[in-house]
Amino acid sequence: MRLLLAMMKHETNTFSPVVTDLKRFRAWGLHEDAAVVTAYRGTNHPLAAFIDSAEAAHADIVTPVAAEAMPSGLVQKEAYDYLCGRILSALRDQGPFDGAMLDLHGAMVAEPDWDAEGGLLEAMRQIAPDLPIAVTFDMHGNITERVVRNCTVLNCYKSYPHTDMYVTGKACADVFMRALRGEVKPVMSYGALPLLAQTLRMGTADFPMREMQQRTRDEENRPDILLASVFGGFPMADIPQVGLSAIVVADAHQANAEAARDRLLDFAWQHRADFIYQHEPLAQAVARAKTITEQPIVLLDHADNVGSGGTSDSMVVIREVIAQGLTDVAVGAVWDPEAVQLMMKAGVGATLTLDLGGKSDMPSIGAKGEPLRLTGRVRRLSDGEWTVRGPMYTGTHVTTGPTAVFESEGLSIVVTSLHHEPWDAGIFTSVGIDPAHCRYLLLKSRIHYRAGFSPYEKARVTLDGVGVTTSDNSLLSYRSSNRPLYPVHPEAKWPD
Ligand SMILES: [Zn+2]
Repeated sequence: MRLLLAMMKHETNTFSPVVTDLKRFRAWGLHEDAAVVTAYRGTNHPLAAFIDSAEAAHADIVTPVAAEAMPSGLVQKEAYDYLCGRILSALRDQGPFDGAMLDLHGAMVAEPDWDAEGGLLEAMRQIAPDLPIAVTFDMHGNITERVVRNCTVLNCYKSYPHTDMYVTGKACADVFMRALRGEVKPVMSYGALPLLAQTLRMGTADFPMREMQQRTRDEENRPDILLASVFGGFPMADIPQVGLSAIVVADAHQANAEAARDRLLDFAWQHRADFIYQHEPLAQAVARAKTITEQPIVLLDHADNVGSGGTSDSMVVIREVIAQGLTDVAVGAVWDPEAVQLMMKAGVGATLTLDLGGKSDMPSIGAKGEPLRLTGRVRRLSDGEWTVRGPMYTGTHVTTGPTAVFESEGLSIVVTSLHHEPWDAGIFTSVGIDPAHCRYLLLKSRIHYRAGFSPYEKARVTLDGVGVTTSDNSLLSYRSSNRPLYPVHPEAKWPD
């Protein structure tokens, strides 16, 4: 048996000003050929499960590329063509293959094709029309009918934070191997709601996504249902097909797949209002945080969440926290390579005044970058290299580039040269900050931080700042959508 395994992942925030080029993929991880297996074997990724399953089946494997970039703006043509080109040329030149297993995201938007994953799968089927293809996706994928039409089996994460990446890959690979052996005959159903669910309301510890994902497990326990997926979707994308969808893989009987899909979509639509975040004025929320007695208290700067394409240099929340006199605050993290260079030049212990952050303009929401002038001390300098020990991306090597800790106004601010969402305590422990002994942990994150910080979190306050991952839909324009979307259009109907 000969199998093609590959990974191509990016969550594209079309409102983000951060450019997604090949350099950005290389900064987080772009591996080719044998280096793919070295980089991903034993990690908590679907690709690691694909490698294990292929090896257990004594298959020859070809691994042309494994690439991921931190979420950001539109993927440039050169990057998309290069990554797809690696996969397509392997398919053309190193086959014939008995199958392909792909670890994709589902919310990649590329310059040449807004449905980037659909484009890749379609191109693969143009080369090899009968090729069985298994795909795993992130729960935040905006999945199209074109994707479903061009693969054989499909599965997505059931947990957010995504601590079940390997498990998702393993379940998908198991069904796929059974299909290759002729033991099952997968058929798929697909359906999408006109529902722009918000990421802040998709955590699987909370209703309604907890219940929603339990229902996918219940479906998988029915006879003849092989895999059931509910995608919350990724709302930070102005594309024709955005929002919540469900896909069910059944054995042989299309009607079973469709019935299961409808049960899942009915539940989601019935609870559509619960997928929408309720706002609280920033000053009021910060004042509330001051009154909480237990600690550490997690403060979420969710409108500038790097893991959804935030610039990580919006200073609005930090400014308010300082204005209200909160102290003993660890901040993870502000992106500002220039400030890091100034601190490196000054050295540990030096006192200096910085115009910190605010380097990115955000034209999509009409916001200008506004640095915050702070005087403080350089507490620590680091190369920003560490390995994830927590439950999400376990074993993955992280680089935040040259990194510094700046102490000012009672805050210890981690300042990085590369974007990174703080979903693991390593963002602090790698620079000598013990999160257990801070009063406040101010994180530019929404839900993923729960993976690494749940053991520390005694209380949480969600802060509405300014940034391109805002949950305020009125700030964003959805011009490209092919239908009215709830809640932007409260009158949106389903079925229509
Ligand atoms: Zn995700």
